Formats: sequence, C-alpha cells, structure tokens
Amino acid sequence: MKKYFLILFLFIAGPVVSQDLRTARKMVNELTSKTMWGRGYTNNGMSKAADFICSAFKAYGLSPMNGTDFKQPFTFPVNTFPGKMQVTVNGKKLSPGKDFIVMPKSTGKMAKGKFEQEDSVTFTNTNERVVAILKNKLTWSVAPLQDDFTGIEINKKAIKDIPLNFEIDIENSFIPEFNTANICGVVKGTAKPDSVLVITAHYDHLGGMGSKTYFPGANDNASGISLLLSLAKYYAANPQPYTMAFICFAGEEAGLIGSKYFTDHPLLPLEKIRFLINVDMVGTGETGITVVNATIYPREFSLLNQLNDKNKYLKKINSRGKAANSDHYFFTEKEVPAFFIYTTGGISAYHDVYDKPKTLPLTEYQDLFKLFVDFNAALMNK
Ligand SMILES: [Zn+2]
Repeated sequence: MKKYFLILFLFIAGPVVSQDLRTARKMVNELTSKTMWGRGYTNNGMSKAADFICSAFKAYGLSPMNGTDFKQPFTFPVNTFPGKMQVTVNGKKLSPGKDFIVMPKSTGKMAKGKFEQEDSVTFTNTNERVVAILKNKLTWSVAPLQDDFTGIEINKKAIKDIPLNFEIDIENSFIPEFNTANICGVVKGTAKPDSVLVITAHYDHLGGMGSKTYFPGANDNASGISLLLSLAKYYAANPQPYTMAFICFAGEEAGLIGSKYFTDHPLLPLEKIRFLINVDMVGTGETGITVVNATIYPREFSLLNQLNDKNKYLKKINSRGKAANSDHYFFTEKEVPAFFIYTTGGISAYHDVYDKPKTLPLTEYQDLFKLFVDFNAALMNK
C-alpha cells in the first residue's frame, strides 16, 4: 500500500509534461533536410521552412498574432550564391564547405591566375580582384551587402603547399529585396490575456553556398525552432492565464533583421510582454546552459536557478550580461525583459557544414522544455 502511494505521489509530483525526443528529432530532421536547403536564400529554403512552421502552428491550434495571418512579411538585401561554386588551387579541386568557403560579401568571378603572397596566410591577385586566406576553421555567414572583390577562405588542411595557382568559377546574385517573413502565433490567455509571455527563435540559417552545398544548421537553430514548436503545441493544448506568444524570426543570420523588424513593427504592444525567452542553439547541454541578460534581470535569473535546483534539470546555469548576439537584443533595447538561452558543452560545430542533425545530441531538450514550463508558471503565479 505504502509503495502504491509512493508511486502515485511520484507520478503526481513528477513532471506533468514530457516532450518526447522522437518528435523533436523528427522536426530537426525536417528543418535540416535538403529540401529546406539550409533555410536560406536559394532554392526557396527559407520560405519552405516558414510554411512548415505555419502548418505546425495551424495544426496545434494557435491563432495568428495579427488576427489574420501567421506571417509578418518584410524584405531586406542579401548577397547569395545560387549556382557554380568551383575553386581549384595548385591543381587540386577543393570541396565547397569542407575545403573552402566563399566570403559572404564576395562578387561572382570566373578567372584563372597566379597569387601573390601578402603574408603567411593571405594571397591576392589584384588584376582579377581575388583574395584567398588560409584558415584553421571555416566559419560561414550571410551578408546584406556586396564587396567589389571575390574572397575565398581555404582550410589549411586542404592544401599541402602555399597556394600559387588558382582557378575559380563562382556564381553570385545580389538580391536587393529578398522577401521573407517572421512567423507569429499566440495562445490567448484565459484570465489575463493582456499579459504576455513570449518564446522566440530564429528559423533561418545560412542556406546554400553554390548549387551543391548547403549548411543544415541543426543546432543553429533547428534545435530552437523544434523546442519552440514543442512549447507551442503544449500551450495550445493547455492555455494559461497569460497569453503565450511564439515568434519565429527570419533574417537573424544576416544581422538580426527579423527581430529588428518586429520590434519596429510590433504585432502586440511591447509593454504587455511580461517576459521573453529567446532560444538559439539549444541542441547540446552536457555542461548546462548560458543565460544572456542574467545580470540585467537578477530576480528572474534567481527564479530560474531555484526551479532548476529544485528539479535537478541542468548541470549548471551560467550567467552572462547583455550581448547583441541573437534576437532578444532589440527587445532588450526597447526595455522588454528578456533572456537569451543557449546550451553549452557537447559538439562545437558552428556555421559550418558539420552542424548536422546526426551529430546533434539534444542532451537537455526535455529538461529545457520542463524548465521553461515551470518558469512561465512561476512568473504567472507571482
Ligand atoms: Zn543562430
């Protein structure tokens, strides 16, 4: 009998919510698939990801934040590489993404020539306006503008000698007004619908570099979108006293463009936001999480720690100050209380072709889910 009560007690006191990892894994796989082409600027990658999120919001039963449409459209300029991406150095054809990357602001170029050495890692051809830099690690990004030269970064391990001869064929297309959208949904509050708790994550990544290579962005930020969708599903099925809002931003990798647009054109009054959690790169967690803005919101940070200590979710919660390193930033600038949370430890692939779903551990996915549900509940009960 005693045992029965103990089991019953554990059942009641234990997590009433659990998020199965299989679903999370499925979402990450979908978001990092070839079809979505790195959720970027070529092959309609970003817009396919947007549609995927809209369908999920609709299926869960969320309402559009603006009343009519989950999408908040906007445009921005971006430099893209839709076609040829060939680099040969010293007679060796290099593999895009692994052996070399094109500098994000580069113009396209078809040329052949000799390099001049500038220093131990820099090589140029001024006539063709080509520069090559040797790197220990290749880290790609996206640029909203274009330079008047072509740059390549070469993995030091990919070539044996100093680069002397090169042959490149790189196609480039600068898009002055790339069309995209933030995806914004809500679950209306049952008691205080004018108070809002917000979860945000960016769904864009770097997209494709040429027609054969794309950057999957599993940790950055298929992990965050997957966690956001799990929470959206949970809250749609369990409406809360406050309105729960979910925003998936576009254009983060090009310079926090989607979140800047939202804070300049908010679909809900920013002063109604009681708290916002932005998740970006939450697919690991072996050593815990880091909380940006922890020092600005010490009370909320201590609440997060209390809940974590009580339930033993994460190994450690690291505190960090203000930083302009993800989509929480422009909310913070408008005095919206916000944390940016990312996991630490585990794999370190970042902005490269190795940020893949297969090697993403999702170590703390379920714990984070539970911690956020507890945290939001505590904020509403105060
Ligand atoms: Zn990111």
